[in-house]
Amino acid sequence: MSARILVVEDEPAIQELLTFNLSQAGYQPLRALSVEQADTILSTHMPDLILLDWMLPGQSGIDYAKQLKSRASTKDIPIIMLTARSEEMDKLRGLEVGADDYITKPFSPRELNARIKAVLRRSSPQSVHEPLEIAELSLDPRTHRVSGKGIPITLGPMEYKLLFFFMSNPERVYTREQLLNSVWGSGVYVEDRTVDVQIRRLRNALQVSGHDAMVQTVRGTGYRFSTLV
Ligand code: CA
Repeated sequence: MSARILVVEDEPAIQELLTFNLSQAGYQPLRALSVEQADTILSTHMPDLILLDWMLPGQSGIDYAKQLKSRASTKDIPIIMLTARSEEMDKLRGLEVGADDYITKPFSPRELNARIKAVLRRSSPQSVHEPLEIAELSLDPRTHRVSGKGIPITLGPMEYKLLFFFMSNPERVYTREQLLNSVWGSGVYVEDRTVDVQIRRLRNALQVSGHDAMVQTVRGTGYRFSTLV
């Protein structure tokens, strides 16, 4: 199923352009010209992501973002703020309203799609189906096939999820707890040691193509997936 994206933008021309681009990229756009319309939509449809304009009549996008992040029903929906100027973006950074990303107008559809994809990958990996490829290691979410330098790699379900997470978030360091929350899911009770066991299994599986060195231990912190040794 393609991801549903709610666009909250008061300028009809920009709204039109955004929803057109989103449809072209294979997403299901939902349109709101105001905060009130957005609330009406949210009472019946839960989007996978919200594109929220900074400048809206009445309530500002920033206030609305804060509100959405404080409501139990909407707090987990990622938000990308659309801002007109880079100063707004700076202000936004300082405000820490809980937006997941920001994009400054004017932006190209390509740039917007890249941001959307990155945010969705972090929040709901199952809604993004594009194959991932890093340093000749490929993972196809549609078929669950993984290969390294063309050699098929067999992974168990948890190792697959772990690799998917790493390939979606390369170069960052994650603690065991963060990995447990992101890969196993919060609320699931497993010991930290489980992470170490799965990491070892993943490394073993990746040895066939020599990609095991990409799964790196960061001493005292956790793990990182990196192309740099
Ligand atoms: Ca506006």
